[in-house]
Amino acid sequence: MKSAMTDAPRSATSPGADDARPPRKTALQAVRGMNDVLPDEAALWERFEETTRDVFRRYGYRNLRVPIVEPTPLFVRAIGDATDVVEHEMYTFEDRLNGESLTLRPEATAGIVRAAIEHNLLYERPQRVWLAGPMFRHERPQKGRYRQFHQFDVEALGFAGPDVDVEQIVMLARLWRELGLADGIHLEINSIGDAAERRAHRSALVEYFTRYADALDADSRRRLSTNPLRILDSKNPALQEIIAGAPRLVDRLELPARTHFDALTQMLADAGIAYIVNPRLVRGLDYYNRTVFEWVTDRLGAQGTVAGGGRYDGLFEELGGKFTPACGFAMGVERMILLLQLAKGDVRDAPFAYIVHVGDAAAKLAHRVAEELRDAGHSIVMNAGGGSFKAQMKRADASDARFALIVGDDEAAAGTVAIKPLREPGEQRAVAAQDVAEHLSASAHKTL
Ligand code: ATP
Ligand code: MG
Repeated sequence: MKSAMTDAPRSATSPGADDARPPRKTALQAVRGMNDVLPDEAALWERFEETTRDVFRRYGYRNLRVPIVEPTPLFVRAIGDATDVVEHEMYTFEDRLNGESLTLRPEATAGIVRAAIEHNLLYERPQRVWLAGPMFRHERPQKGRYRQFHQFDVEALGFAGPDVDVEQIVMLARLWRELGLADGIHLEINSIGDAAERRAHRSALVEYFTRYADALDADSRRRLSTNPLRILDSKNPALQEIIAGAPRLVDRLELPARTHFDALTQMLADAGIAYIVNPRLVRGLDYYNRTVFEWVTDRLGAQGTVAGGGRYDGLFEELGGKFTPACGFAMGVERMILLLQLAKGDVRDAPFAYIVHVGDAAAKLAHRVAEELRDAGHSIVMNAGGGSFKAQMKRADASDARFALIVGDDEAAAGTVAIKPLREPGEQRAVAAQDVAEHLSASAHKTL
């Protein structure tokens, strides 16, 4: 609607008596790569999160929470300065008050290990923990890759494995089953050995890739001197053939890592978990040793890794703690949601009943019935803001509720409620107000 009052140009010299409203401000938008999750989509997130938490609980993992902001050196030391994350992706800023360099967490393991050391969490026994929340990486946003994204992160601290390595893999296999996604996700594993063979392997890789230096891209050429293992992780299609011919660390493991890996594969076979050994699997972060694994789907294009992890026996010492073997993984929530949407579409959290009421006496009875139904655990939407029966019935229908409960003057006088099924055949019928909860609970069980 055009109005002279709001559209008139404002000026200091002719403010105008009616010109009390400020001009409309331009609407702000979210930061690029950082997404809102609106209620229709959030319903699926909640179901996914509930299922995940419940599966972790059944394996004895307990929740732990650490800050989103940590001192920058924590991530530089934990993740390694020649990694994509530390080189390009961290949101780092100076605390305005004391100039300390702080970083929005790009991953969870570093903060969890810091907390475990700081609070002496492993004093009495090893710990199984999980954490959920947002992570921040300055990447190029695309499907399945965002700047604020969410992870479930799981860590077994103080366990030398390989039994806990297998436990975590088995736990994820169960999660895929319970989410109905087992068909679409497969397991890749590898061993990247211990420090000694990694050093030897590093020289072998440098020698190998130097022979192809002309064919490498700029990133990989740079990594030849900083972090040659990471060349294996390159997503550049032009390099895949060269990478495929590179020396394989899994072929030259020393006895301890070999024994660990053989036990891991044996236990996976015993648990009936199918896997592929991918000798080029290295993981993007520096702190891993021995077991590395990824769960991968081919349904999401290039962003196919839905969960990845492995063993990081050296990280506690790297961060100033005592030697503590540990194993963990992180699962990307957005990629899981994309998979679930492909498999089942969005779910909507429809209310059980929508209460239509007209008149003061009706409103009182309606409130009482609504509270009783909520006592019984049902999701009940009360009509708010008045409106005719017809208008309220339209809202009831639009809410996707299973039932409309209708209360007018007549019902209020008789102490009854009219129940009208909205999604299934059945006549509207009047039920005494005190029997509504029982009546509806019975019919809920009948048809659900
Ligand atoms: P990628 O190779 O896809 O960049 P990564 O090796 O950097 O993954 P991790 O640090 O191991 O990933 O994180 C574990 C999981 O978190 C990934 O497998 C993925 O599901 C998810 N993830 C990582 N980065 C992002 C992102 N920018 N946006 C959405 N999900 C992400
Ligand atoms: Mg990455």
